[in-house]
Amino acid sequence: MATPTADMTAALSAALTAGAAQARADLEELCRIPGIAFDGFDPSQLQRSAEATAALLERSGLQGVRILTDGGAAPAVYGEHAAAGPGQPTVLLYAHHDVQPTGEVDAWTSPPFEPTERDGRLYGRGCADDKAGVVAHASAVAAWIEAAGAPPVNVKVIIEGEEEIGSPHLDAFLEATGDLLTADAAVIADLVNWQVGVPSLTTVLRGMVDVHVTVEVLDHAVHSGMYGGPVPDPLTALAKLVASLTDEHGVATVPGLRAGLRGPSPSEQASLDALDFQVDRFRAEAGLRDGVPFGGDPDLPVLQRIWMEPFLSVLGIDAPPTQQATNAIQPHASAKLGLRVGPGQDAAAIRDVLVDHLNAQTPLGARVEARPGAAGDPFETNTDTRAAQAMLSALEEGYDTAPVLMGCGGSIPLLGPLQAANPDAAMLLVGVEDPDSRAHGIDESLHLADWESARASIALLLGKLAT
Ligand SMILES: [Zn+2]
Repeated sequence: MATPTADMTAALSAALTAGAAQARADLEELCRIPGIAFDGFDPSQLQRSAEATAALLERSGLQGVRILTDGGAAPAVYGEHAAAGPGQPTVLLYAHHDVQPTGEVDAWTSPPFEPTERDGRLYGRGCADDKAGVVAHASAVAAWIEAAGAPPVNVKVIIEGEEEIGSPHLDAFLEATGDLLTADAAVIADLVNWQVGVPSLTTVLRGMVDVHVTVEVLDHAVHSGMYGGPVPDPLTALAKLVASLTDEHGVATVPGLRAGLRGPSPSEQASLDALDFQVDRFRAEAGLRDGVPFGGDPDLPVLQRIWMEPFLSVLGIDAPPTQQATNAIQPHASAKLGLRVGPGQDAAAIRDVLVDHLNAQTPLGARVEARPGAAGDPFETNTDTRAAQAMLSALEEGYDTAPVLMGCGGSIPLLGPLQAANPDAAMLLVGVEDPDSRAHGIDESLHLADWESARASIALLLGKLAT
């Protein structure tokens, strides 16, 4: 591992400090754009978000900046800096510029697309997930250009535009772009740190599966008084169907749904045991109501349930809203189910197990039609690589605190295909969020001091990876 000279370290540190105000302004600018890739949202805003991201990469000194829609993907943004030359490794910096929908806007303390600082945190949709990652990468590159004229390694930056909908065009995108994203190491700045002030390297993530299910009973809605009784209620049938999938702890009991699941390895067990999991803090962060017990297998550590166990939930139900409910039996009812799968499991195969199981059910005699949605595999990476050790060292310097190894219950569909395209590359999964960030929720926020540390860590990593 190259040791950057003291002069260079000081110059980089000065450039990071000098660039802080610009980075903050860049972040706020991006956070004002409601770029959402979900169906039903204005795609021109996603395009605006991509254009603003491209402008940011150009301002930061990246070259060949362009918006890519290969393979039908929502607009992604690419830029590179290859002045280090063939003798140096290539590092891919990944983040995404699309954001989740806001949920109920009135429930936000400040408007979701007006970034607002309170108590050292910047509130707004996307401030943490993942525009903080976008700007951290760009400003790390800018700091190197300021300090040394160029980054010490070759850098590729890819900012995805459809991560929040499960990266549906990812395989086609990677195929269409060939070796564009080939690298020796990839920094994925879209994870959660263990605590405020305590950085993490994430080594295991769950995968994610969607299934759509419809229960069909009637041609058309009928009067619940005139027909109810002989005619069964499809919403009740759907409720029975969904309830039949889990036990009293919410653990999915569908046969075959745990196929392939591996338990923690000895080293994972050691990190599970070493982490100081605070039950009360976790309950508070989640906002879990008093008296509501934890779900999942009560014999397993809570962290293992989050990081390594399957979890089935209902993501949505199509039904009349209660305020507009009439005395009618609906003709059909639909639900979207989400299933997190654990390390070792094949997401598409598990999804098909669930689809087949649902299609074989007849709640209240109703016809059930299930169809598969997206499937993203779980992911695991090891920390024995030179790149992972460099990342741990950079995090320790950037945060001035030793990093921890952890898992993540969430999913990043990109990781599997990206690793498959770069079988030898180290995947370095680092946080810009903390447990209070409420990514995807109301009042999402970024811890600004930790973000400074994350920015510094990414910049320091580039120096440590230079040979
Ligand atoms: Zn994200």
